[in-house]
Amino acid sequence: MKNMGIVLIMASTLVCSFNVIAAKANFSVINTGQSAGSSEGLIVSGGEWFKKRQLVHNAVLIQHERGDLLIDTGLGRNVDDQVAVMGWLDQQLLAYTKAVPAVDQLQQQGYDFSRLKAIIPTHLHWDHASGIEDFKRFNTPIWVQKEELETAKKHAPPAFIQSQFDDPAINWHFISLNNTRKLGFAASLDVFDDGSVILLDMAGHTHGQIGVLVNNEYLFIGDSTWAIAGVNNNVGRSALVKWLMDLNYDQQKSDDLVETLHQLTIENKKLVIVPAHDEDVAATLPRYPEFLM
Ligand SMILES: [Zn+2]
Repeated sequence: MKNMGIVLIMASTLVCSFNVIAAKANFSVINTGQSAGSSEGLIVSGGEWFKKRQLVHNAVLIQHERGDLLIDTGLGRNVDDQVAVMGWLDQQLLAYTKAVPAVDQLQQQGYDFSRLKAIIPTHLHWDHASGIEDFKRFNTPIWVQKEELETAKKHAPPAFIQSQFDDPAINWHFISLNNTRKLGFAASLDVFDDGSVILLDMAGHTHGQIGVLVNNEYLFIGDSTWAIAGVNNNVGRSALVKWLMDLNYDQQKSDDLVETLHQLTIENKKLVIVPAHDEDVAATLPRYPEFLM
């Protein structure tokens, strides 16, 4: 009987450790649209000019037992009206085809919006912030670094579109990353204090861009690069795109960021790096309503 007691204690310890693993975050990619298509040579320096790429506009729903997070919003219900303020050339370069907006896909699946703890745009460029106001009626907090919103409010299309975030009813919540280094990034924030979802300082592309590390395995890097080839080859966007559109807030920081990410691919082969728009990488991830686990 004494031995039986020991076995039971061991079994309950195993159950406890299983619970720790089960507490890890789960996620699913919500596709809201795709670019109409452009040459890979435009998207990434050294890309093939005759290879057509159709970058995706995705949001990522992260599930955690203490609440869900939506990373980016993709193209929202009012995207057509929003982008009307862009110049003609920008509209051609950034042309897209729409899928169902994230809020509607969630609704179609009977999603309980009270579970949604926060929406975390990696940054506030038009293709990431387009759906923010779709969630207004749920009063979901929008987590951003203050400098990201301040810079966004001062800038013009095509990068930032004021109508996407000018509603006074938006429930902004300013987050501060702390000085805990993680994966080579100087500042971070462990959202649930269990290591499952960690926000990382990826400033450069915009003033306050953040990356998101999930389960120490998946690293969502926003628009640090548009295609994974940028990280793999340690290169930025093409010179032509840089000439056509002044996209990066701080070019040096942006280059340093790509270098840091490139180093990570060498040091940590198991890490899955996910640029927000890379359709080939997105195709390897679970697509809503399918989840990772
Ligand atoms: Zn983008």
